[in-house]
Amino acid sequence: MPATLVAPHASASAAVVETLSGMERAVALYSSDMPNGYRLQRSSESALIAWILQGVVRLGREETRRRASYLAGHRKLWLRDMTTQEIDRRHAERFPSARRLDRAEELASASVMWLVGVAPEARHLPAVIDGCCPECDNSRKVWGTWVIDAGSDWSEEGYRACWACQTNGGAA
Ligand SMILES: [Zn+2]
Repeated sequence: MPATLVAPHASASAAVVETLSGMERAVALYSSDMPNGYRLQRSSESALIAWILQGVVRLGREETRRRASYLAGHRKLWLRDMTTQEIDRRHAERFPSARRLDRAEELASASVMWLVGVAPEARHLPAVIDGCCPECDNSRKVWGTWVIDAGSDWSEEGYRACWACQTNGGAA
């Protein structure tokens, strides 16, 4: 029956993958030799881990993270139907095949759920917008009325950090 022993090199690989957020894994898989038609099977779980590592080695750790941050930024705007032509163009240059990116994101999610969880320190990936922010026009702040206390009617008008491009703060 299936061996449950984990080979030493396999656990070392898992230790590296653990330091990658889901988005970073998706970026790595996109850049790897993973076939577009790949489907996760129990017998080939180690192949998925190997492709994630291959992609990170190809891109480098910093570039993997940078692209993942842009991917997160694109997704954040895309969900609100707020991407601009500029932002969409840069996204498409980075990920020319939407189908492959979908596949990479699905398998990255599967790897988080079923294979190797994300270490707590790797969970906070800043979302970065690659282009002019459509919400604040790069002023980094938005004017609004902010509820201070929902119990009373206490609210204040003023500038706040832009939710689209600044809410992740200056995280590295
Ligand atoms: Zn903004």
